[in-house]
Amino acid sequence: MLGGIRPAGSRRSWWLREALAEEEAASPHMAAAAPPLRGSITADVVIVGGGYTGLWAAYRATELEAGARIVLLEADICGGGPSGRNGGFVTNWWDELPTLVDRYGEAGALAVARAIEGAVDEIGTWCATHGVDAWYTKAGALQASAAPAQDGAWDEAVAACRALGVGDRYLPLDRDEMRARVASPVFRGGVFMPGAATIQPAVLARGLRRILLERGVVIHEGTQVTEIDGQQPGWLGSVAATTRRAPVRHAGRSRTWRPVRVRTMSAVGAGEVVAASAVVALNAWAAAWPWFGRRLVTWSSTIILTEPIPDRLADLGWTGGEGVSDARFTLHYLRTTPDGRIAIGGGGGRAGFGGRIGPAFTDDVLSSRRAAAGLRHLFPSLRDVRIEDSWGGPIDVSADHLPWFGSVRGRPIHHGHGYSGNGVAPAVVGGRILAARALERADDPVLASPLATGSAPRAFPPEPARYLGARLVREAAARRESAEERGASVEPVVRELSRLPRRLGYHIGPR
Ligand SMILES: Cc1cc2nc3c(=O)[nH]c(=O)nc-3n(C[C@H](O)[C@H](O)[C@H](O)COP(=O)(O)OP(=O)(O)OC[C@H]3O[C@@H](n4cnc5c(N)ncnc54)[C@H](O)[C@@H]3O)c2cc1C
Repeated sequence: MLGGIRPAGSRRSWWLREALAEEEAASPHMAAAAPPLRGSITADVVIVGGGYTGLWAAYRATELEAGARIVLLEADICGGGPSGRNGGFVTNWWDELPTLVDRYGEAGALAVARAIEGAVDEIGTWCATHGVDAWYTKAGALQASAAPAQDGAWDEAVAACRALGVGDRYLPLDRDEMRARVASPVFRGGVFMPGAATIQPAVLARGLRRILLERGVVIHEGTQVTEIDGQQPGWLGSVAATTRRAPVRHAGRSRTWRPVRVRTMSAVGAGEVVAASAVVALNAWAAAWPWFGRRLVTWSSTIILTEPIPDRLADLGWTGGEGVSDARFTLHYLRTTPDGRIAIGGGGGRAGFGGRIGPAFTDDVLSSRRAAAGLRHLFPSLRDVRIEDSWGGPIDVSADHLPWFGSVRGRPIHHGHGYSGNGVAPAVVGGRILAARALERADDPVLASPLATGSAPRAFPPEPARYLGARLVREAAARRESAEERGASVEPVVRELSRLPRRLGYHIGPR
């Protein structure tokens, strides 16, 4: 069954290969890589990173100020990172409501969850408006218990939704209701989030790129940013150079800041952008930059893709396009494609050291095998199904599992990261926040969102403790959850290790 799995990181994800092939057929000119930067240019806003965060920030900036000179710099091609590699789940945050209440209070939590709910719909509307066929399907998301230890993992969130008058957003299902939607013999019950959607993630990223080019945004691909405002990436991220809320003082552009200087390197040589403000949208790569390193742990997630099996999906009753996950901390997430494949990811992943994103983040046969084992556990009848593809990508885990949209103290440098593996819908809101800050739109309502005003997440321990701790906890969690699924006993030391982050006050890891 695993014969089809080969290291995938050396090539594009299946999503991105599909998206690029379509793009090439429709417009070879548009599909060609945007030229790398050479020499010195100026801009109103320079955006570093061509994933959803950078792309949505650029898009919003074009809405806020049509004449603004926006330059976007991407080391690879737009969508080459996780934005073109992810599972394509576009989920609400109703399952995060207890954490949101803890962080922002009830009113703030509701406002944030409603903003994310709005972002899910906005992606669908945006795709329809701009003729981007990213397979947007709003069929909801199911989370299932696949072992006694996972039963009721959603109870606290369901209760929080009910208490805040949004019980219809997150609906518990008993065993039969759950299996009627997707017939897995191991599903013991679950919960349904009707407002969630799925997409073809790379088509969305590439569609955003196309619209930005049409709007006059200057994109340089194959352009590695090597320095921002005198800072360079390294692996010993500090907490000293910390960041805080945006320095927005009034509506309109103050242009009082000293410009931001961004230096680059590419195949054609060195480059430089001197800009009034900068947006740093680097996702897991942010962990290598001194401003952010201690607030992020990098983690890998790997997806495998089956051959087309539409008839088998029909046998399972799984034909509506719903996203499905189990309730492990080392979560398995599964979705279908229009030609009847299953993409399943998760089940473990690896921690990264000091913000380095090495080949293990994309070429990881062990993680592919774990995902395949997850598929076999959840759907034993699919044991013989061929796995045709596999790829991975890095995730930027923050201490509270929520993204953080901040600004460098005293500088017009704004950043968004920390999505912790759930960034498709939140990046829409993040892009709005970052564009409003970069263009100093203090009156933009999005800047009143608790997501824009909240403080930085807790720092993680310095390296090498951060890497060793993350690795230890991940192994313990994966061992514990696999044992729980098999009905085997869990050694007390493994259970305690898996709980360590919670005991230390982080909002991550199993309870
Ligand atoms: C396997 C996997 C599955 C996932 N599944 C889901 C899911 O189903 N639903 C969900 O909501 N989220 C999911 N996520 C998370 C989601 O993909 C991310 O949160 C989201 O794509 C973040 O977008 P971004 O723009 O911040 O980052 P990215 O897409 O990573 O973009 C950052 C970009 O910065 C570029 N870059 C890095 N360093 C430099 C530099 N020095 N100079 C220039 N450019 C640089 C990178 O090449 C990259 O393109 C998943 C992630 C992975 C890896």
